Amino acid sequence: MSSEGTPEPRISVRREPPRFRPVVVRSVEQLSPRMRRIVLGGPELEGFEVDQPAASVRLLLPPPGEDAIVLPEWDGNQFKLPSGERAPIRTFTPRHLDTERLELTLDIVVHGGGVASEWARSAEHGAEAAVSGPGRGYEVDATASAHLLAGDETAIPAISQLLERLPPETAVQVHLEIVDPRARLELPSHPKAEVAWHELPRGSRPGDALVAAVEAVEEIPGAAWVAGEAASVQRIRKHLFDARGMARSAATVRGYWKMGRSAT
Ligand SMILES: Cc1cc2nc3c(=O)[nH]c(=O)nc-3n(C[C@H](O)[C@H](O)[C@H](O)COP(=O)(O)OP(=O)(O)OC[C@H]3O[C@@H](n4cnc5c(N)ncnc54)[C@H](O)[C@@H]3O)c2cc1C
Repeated sequence: MSSEGTPEPRISVRREPPRFRPVVVRSVEQLSPRMRRIVLGGPELEGFEVDQPAASVRLLLPPPGEDAIVLPEWDGNQFKLPSGERAPIRTFTPRHLDTERLELTLDIVVHGGGVASEWARSAEHGAEAAVSGPGRGYEVDATASAHLLAGDETAIPAISQLLERLPPETAVQVHLEIVDPRARLELPSHPKAEVAWHELPRGSRPGDALVAAVEAVEEIPGAAWVAGEAASVQRIRKHLFDARGMARSAATVRGYWKMGRSAT
């Protein structure tokens, strides 16, 4: 309360995320015309741990037009650069962590319209970045007899990890939406996985093909993991819960990006 007895405006303070660890690009590989594999490395990755599949890391990139990263300050709500601007930070799946070589692999979609996409398209050996995390991943329900995994291209890294982690006796239905047939990638093999790739017809909204694919699934399995464009996965969430009566605890549905909106 202020001295006059009126309540002070509430200032929300969020817990400061883990620190940023400076890294450099150790190698770059073009996995498909739509996806680049960037291996980041450096001594600052000592002690970095990722336990769960489909977890997340924050990738800090250099400010626009610059090559060197500037470590941001946490202002209680977000990371800001000394200039006062928001730091260029995006979220990715830690596809692989090599704790001996101190290397972290990210697979980044080159969609053509964002800071991270552009950075990944042109990143070269030695380019600077920083990573922070990890953020919570997916707790695999090893008791479910069957799984549904559905996502767009941004979910390919997470779905690949889930295929590596799901018990071999679990039936897995995988549905992936791609905007270009050349975006298809070889996924880790799983003895009971059935993988379907759905090409997004020109002029459709992102996620339309994925929504249709999930709606067409005859029998929804006991557990589901879904990620992709936010509005489309919201439609999938609604379908699973309302039309199929799936228990909320049985499905993890995550918006990975928002159509028409930059992530920061
Ligand atoms: C937990 C989590 C894990 C993720 N893992 C991965 C991953 O492993 N690999 C990966 O590539 N992405 C992943 N993403 C998604 C990624 O963070 C977003 O796509 C992010 O917006 C990319 O940043 P950008 O700077 O390229 O584009 P932004 O600056 O954020 O956006 C610029 C414009 O591009 C559009 N846009 C953003 N992403 C896409 C896209 N994929 N396709 C088409 N248009 C797009 C936006 O709508 C906006 O109009 C993940 C997101 C989350 C939350």
